[in-house]
Amino acid sequence: MERYSRQLLVIGIEAQEKLKKTRVAIVGCGALGTGIAELLARLGVGFIRLIDADYVELSNLSRTHLFEESDIYKPKAMVCYEKVKKINPEVTIEPIIDVINPENALKYLSDVDYVFDATDNVLTRLIINDACVMLNKPLIYGGVSGLYGSVKLVVPYKSACLSCFLNYNGDDTNACEVIGVVDTITSVVASLEVQEFLNHLMNQDKNGEELIYVDLKELSFEKIKIERNPYCEACSRKEFVYLKKNYTVNACIPTEVSEPKGSPVISNEWLRIYKTTGGVIVCYNNGKCFKRVVR
Ligand SMILES: [Zn+2]
Repeated sequence: MERYSRQLLVIGIEAQEKLKKTRVAIVGCGALGTGIAELLARLGVGFIRLIDADYVELSNLSRTHLFEESDIYKPKAMVCYEKVKKINPEVTIEPIIDVINPENALKYLSDVDYVFDATDNVLTRLIINDACVMLNKPLIYGGVSGLYGSVKLVVPYKSACLSCFLNYNGDDTNACEVIGVVDTITSVVASLEVQEFLNHLMNQDKNGEELIYVDLKELSFEKIKIERNPYCEACSRKEFVYLKKNYTVNACIPTEVSEPKGSPVISNEWLRIYKTTGGVIVCYNNGKCFKRVVR
């Protein structure tokens, strides 16, 4: 318990024991996901599943604390796993190199207690949201853009879910890699997501009625009350449209493909990267290949 002696003075032994028994999934191992993983491991969460199909690039290093130059062209989920394991070997960590989609969302999220959204696009968020509402699991949403961020705890059927107020119009290509973002906001949003989790763990009556909006330019925090939408496709009508896959997939999300013929431009012990029209195909040792659009 020496490891946790200072935080025990704040959260108490009961919460510390609860943390040890808690299982979480983090969807996305970018700036938000690695920040959340590090904080949760230091706190002493018992089990962390990390899901990401991307690999580390030079442009990640300005805001992703766990990544170093020597990690470039390694799978993000594996790098995050290796670093976090060193921080706290008492935590069980399961890295998964994959993209969350309607076929696997329930499988990856059904045996955890909390789900953290650390993704960069609306469609993936709505898939995760549908799964969490269907499974009745708390979801902690976080989004960043420039110097602005927002965070919300979703407790299904008690507070507004993401489908209550977010819409997917078939094209959110302005998201993912093209928007600017600074490390300060990702650090703040990752911390707020973990605090929302901790507050809920310690007090189950906290149901996340409010969305926290952070403006780092003005150094302001705002709490915005969001009501449940009586016509919500997820938590009211239980249609779960994003798990039924009746939408057009946008370019933000890597799609699974088969390994191309020819020579990879990058090949190492972890992966092979092939150049293709408009993007790259990356193939990992787990047999999965993903096509990603490069802008
Ligand atoms: Zn809803």
